[in-house]
Amino acid sequence: MNVVLLGPPGAGKGTQARRLEDGHGMVQLSTGDMLRAAVASGSAIGRQAKDVMEAGQLMPDALMVEMIGARIEEPDCVHGFTLDGFPRTVGQAEGLDRMLEQRGKKLDFVIEMAVDDAALIERIAGRFECCSCGTGYHDTFKRPATKGVCDNCGDTNFRRRADDNAAAVERRLTVFHNQTAPLLPYYQERGILRTVDGMAEIDEVSRQIEAIIESGATGKA
Ligand code: AMP
Repeated sequence: MNVVLLGPPGAGKGTQARRLEDGHGMVQLSTGDMLRAAVASGSAIGRQAKDVMEAGQLMPDALMVEMIGARIEEPDCVHGFTLDGFPRTVGQAEGLDRMLEQRGKKLDFVIEMAVDDAALIERIAGRFECCSCGTGYHDTFKRPATKGVCDNCGDTNFRRRADDNAAAVERRLTVFHNQTAPLLPYYQERGILRTVDGMAEIDEVSRQIEAIIESGATGKA
């Protein structure tokens, strides 16, 4: 199954995408993670991405479609994938449709994670992740069971994103409302949009997503 998780920064897309990967083998394809890896590697794309990301702006559509197109070709994607943070504009959605069609693939569902803007800044400002396995944590909502030790892999190194500060988050939210929210009617018209309550507890959000995936697997979408 191929799905898109659609929601503003801090909606919990990454957390849910990792759960789909663990539970269903659907590979998490996060353009944000790919760009952060490019920044860390110091490549030409990484140098361009660093400033764009810190400003909370978007990278060019054609580049992002090409990046995802190359990744989808890799063999681990044959069992399905979850797009996390892509597409982010109608131009990217159109590019994705064309690219999937050329490869004889399609999107099964676009799952909107509906959240309240006011809660997002608090959520984002407190988040951090394990440097080794990427498991996400939060200062208030989800601390590791043992302070300073990752629950999942036992590593003791954590990191915070450079763009997870209040000013950049506000810019990212504005960009979401202006450029990404128009994807909701785009996918609604195509009959594949579903919505979950992104404000619910993490396990409840997962249950709602599972129900959608299950409805697709049994043909009762
Ligand atoms: P994310 O981790 O998904 O919140 O992405 C972090 C940043 O990477 C965004 O604020 C953008 O600057 C950039 N980015 C990630 N995905 C995309 C995309 N699909 N299109 C354009 N820019 C992106």
